[in-house]
Amino acid sequence: MTAVDRAAVPDLAELAEVSAGLETRSAGAAVRWAYERFGDDLVLAASFQDAVLIDVAVEVAPRIEVVFLDTQYHFAETLWYVEELRRRYDLNLRVIEPLVEPDNRWRTDVEGCCGARKVEPLARALAGRAAWITGLRRTDAPTRANAPIVSWDVARSMVKVNPLAPWTDADMAGYVADHQLPVNPLTERGFPSIGCWPCTRPVMPGEDPRSGRWSGKGKTECGLHA
Ligand code: SF4
Repeated sequence: MTAVDRAAVPDLAELAEVSAGLETRSAGAAVRWAYERFGDDLVLAASFQDAVLIDVAVEVAPRIEVVFLDTQYHFAETLWYVEELRRRYDLNLRVIEPLVEPDNRWRTDVEGCCGARKVEPLARALAGRAAWITGLRRTDAPTRANAPIVSWDVARSMVKVNPLAPWTDADMAGYVADHQLPVNPLTERGFPSIGCWPCTRPVMPGEDPRSGRWSGKGKTECGLHA
């Protein structure tokens, strides 16, 4: 397996063609394309909200590096779930911590808090790599409605692969049921979207699944997918 030249911007037309071709193929095909193309220069960033992306990826590339951003404000259930999946899949897991100590910044400055606890740590995790895989889906939010499966991440100068981009909530639930995947305990307690405890609340039936994130704070994205 040959790693790409990290300094080189790939042929964007080729990326668009690859992405279009993957629209009618499985999520595993997207992971396979990325792993064959980038090898160990590929990183998977996992939120541990569910196990779908990890299950798909390790089937193709069992030793793919999986990154978890430990913001220091995750729910205890999520931290338990990280260990559960690490054991289940024998994950090549890398936990990245922020460079700051726990503080109260989330009370008054959610942008700055996410910047210090998510955006900067992710930049460190991806430094020197050629491509990253994410669990982003088009149904997550209107801002993600046109997300391609494969694209050039301009902000990070690397290829971004979203194998689950076309998946609906029903697709996700069906995969979890068919493969009998463990679920984050919060999912069963009204948390369809799971982030840090200070910024995540359960949602009522009929509410937008992501309305529980930064509720009332005028924020919808943590900055990782800007
Ligand atoms: S989600 Fe909230 S607690 Fe977590 S990093 Fe962002 S502002 Fe801080």
